Amino acid sequence: MEILVIGAGVVGLAAARALALDGHDVVVAEASDAFGMGISSRNSEVIHAGMYYPAGSLRARHCVRGARLLYEFCESHGVAHRACGKLIVATSQEEVPAIEAIRRRGAENGVERLELIDAGQAARLEPHLRCHAAVLSPRTGIIDSHALMLALLGDIEDRGGSLALMSPALRLRFDRGRWLVTVGEDAGEIAFDAVVNAAGLGAQQVAAVTEGYPADRIPGSFSPRAVTSPSPAARSSKGLSIQRPRKGAGSACI
Ligand SMILES: Cc1cc2nc3c(=O)[nH]c(=O)nc-3n(C[C@H](O)[C@H](O)[C@H](O)COP(=O)(O)OP(=O)(O)OC[C@H]3O[C@@H](n4cnc5c(N)ncnc54)[C@H](O)[C@@H]3O)c2cc1C
Repeated sequence: MEILVIGAGVVGLAAARALALDGHDVVVAEASDAFGMGISSRNSEVIHAGMYYPAGSLRARHCVRGARLLYEFCESHGVAHRACGKLIVATSQEEVPAIEAIRRRGAENGVERLELIDAGQAARLEPHLRCHAAVLSPRTGIIDSHALMLALLGDIEDRGGSLALMSPALRLRFDRGRWLVTVGEDAGEIAFDAVVNAAGLGAQQVAAVTEGYPADRIPGSFSPRAVTSPSPAARSSKGLSIQRPRKGAGSACI
């Protein structure tokens, strides 16, 4: 199938990679002039182990499995990362039951090697730390999120997929079995068999400019506004603006 993925953040690039590996013809359309410049370059770059989400929830399952897959992907693709571990501390005796509850929930979620440690053990790991007890999560880690996205993009391009920068999805409509998408004002409508909306904070806007999309399925009260269309630089066979990613584009972390 010919598939358009809207948004080149970590979600869009991961979805596009999976589709490309499945043999689909994938184009990722990104409104900005580089990939990963939205939420994906404004996060803490933590690989969460998965102990906070309610047991049995989708978020718990996906977080635990996702962390394992992410470590494997980092290893196989040379993405900088470190399983540095995390301490969740109780700074008073009253807080100890709360961290014990986190450890129990994590164990129910399948997080490996969570351990309740005492103040002395915690201080041996972090000499400046003063606490009553702590939960040690050895599977929590940190990752270079831009290196991750660059590796995802590499796999997409290896499978013949492409990234079209400065290519905002402006309007979508479904006609005779295909999605007709206006990507940038100059490109006209381009037909795809399927579209993935991975536009992050723009996802509701993309839903709102999708003809026939039920307004009551767009979370929050939302009024469509115009998406601006920068002028494209070079064009793909689909008529989209194609640019090479800027390797190591700056990643701001908090
Ligand atoms: C403060 C903070 C800290 C966080 N810390 C962590 C953490 O430590 N670990 C963790 O796993 N997660 C963390 N997260 C969550 C994580 O960063 C996000 O879940 C993830 O980056 C979302 O990726 P995304 O691809 O959905 O969105 P984005 O990265 O925002 O990508 C969406 C892309 O779509 C593009 N776009 C929008 N509209 C259009 C359009 N019409 N046409 C074409 N392109 C469009 C945007 O330009 C953007 O590039 C954090 C989030 C925040 C806010």
